[in-house]
Amino acid sequence: MSKTITRVRDQFPILQRSINGHPLHYLDNAATTFCPDTVLDKVYEFETGYRANVARGVHRLAAEATDAYESARASVARYINAFDPSEVVFTSGTTAAVNQLAYSLGESIAAGDEILVSMIEHHSNFVPWQMLCKRKGAKLQLIPVDENGVLDLSNLSSLINERTRIVAVTQASNVTGEMPDLGLLAQAAHQVEAKLVVDGAQAVPHGPVDVQALGADFYVFSGHKCYAPTGVGVLWGKGALLSELPEFMYGGGMVERVTPAGTRFLETNQRLEAGTPPIAQAIGLGEAVEWLMMLPWVDIKTHEAKLLGRLANELPSIAGLRVLGPALEGARLPIVSFDIEDCHPHDICHLLDQRAVALRGGHHCAQPLMDALDVMATTRASFAVFNTDADVDALLEGLHEAVDFLR
Ligand code: PMP
Repeated sequence: MSKTITRVRDQFPILQRSINGHPLHYLDNAATTFCPDTVLDKVYEFETGYRANVARGVHRLAAEATDAYESARASVARYINAFDPSEVVFTSGTTAAVNQLAYSLGESIAAGDEILVSMIEHHSNFVPWQMLCKRKGAKLQLIPVDENGVLDLSNLSSLINERTRIVAVTQASNVTGEMPDLGLLAQAAHQVEAKLVVDGAQAVPHGPVDVQALGADFYVFSGHKCYAPTGVGVLWGKGALLSELPEFMYGGGMVERVTPAGTRFLETNQRLEAGTPPIAQAIGLGEAVEWLMMLPWVDIKTHEAKLLGRLANELPSIAGLRVLGPALEGARLPIVSFDIEDCHPHDICHLLDQRAVALRGGHHCAQPLMDALDVMATTRASFAVFNTDADVDALLEGLHEAVDFLR
């Protein structure tokens, strides 16, 4: 194991766990991942040092909590290269952020308008748009996939037209690790003045993001998949667009003046953060992205590519195994889904769990993609910055053993 990865691993207390006498081989990072010490310490520091509500009190603890919360916003802005921290809105996660957009952007959607999503979307970036179309009488257009479940952008011009108002696409598939050509999608969307919403839930843990270079108008992600606590997420919007976005929820912390006759809202992004936000979690997220910005990404990418290369070489030795999605090389994430003839993913996951290999088996909240691939479910191994050759060894040995047992 390289020194870089050893140093990274040493920062995750949970990796000391063993199950059934086996060291933990955690390969379910696309579902959620762990927090390094520095994030846990930061949350502990908040809870024991200056726990208070934000943007309300004037006492010392309230001021310190508010400073830490706003500093987390600035850290997130740096990590995703937002133009300004004021473009960052804290939510409870990706799902909350997409729903917020579907309601607020959705206010201007009219019957006959079109929203374009893709067949590789997580349900969180599919169902809110589908329901918006239903409410407004708009049309949901779908970017199809090929027989491997890879997005087929060849007919994009027939899917986008002057009625298209929103294009909502993931930066990376949580099932196959595919990274669609967002440049092409941004260009096509902007040609007809549609807004591009990018789901960054899977991409954000794999290195700093540049929302401006991506051409996104809105960008959403969750903390728990990028080494931060659960219960926090981000909705980023381009300054001018965010300031035009109607309020979604109403309540404390987002108003300037309330009278029985009506309410005037704040003009800042806090207008979009009604109620007490996830303070400890947001502060933890700020620390997580600071930590992510310190990682040696060139070394980590090389290491990930090596692990994927091993899977590319060694998975085919399992008879009847089909890897879904793009090739296990090039611009993609280390998220690998496969189908094994005559072996149900739940059985595979259960058997590998006996060896402390944590995988995910199921539809991965991507049923449109499962239908297109004509499978009910897949088995998925998803890698984080702390995974090693030992995890790949345990996965491969476990798969061979499970397949022998199940056939
Ligand atoms: N989008 C993608 C691509 C995801 O992988 C996930 C989580 N699996 C989500 C959205 C939803 O994230 P959350 O459950 O944190 O809201």
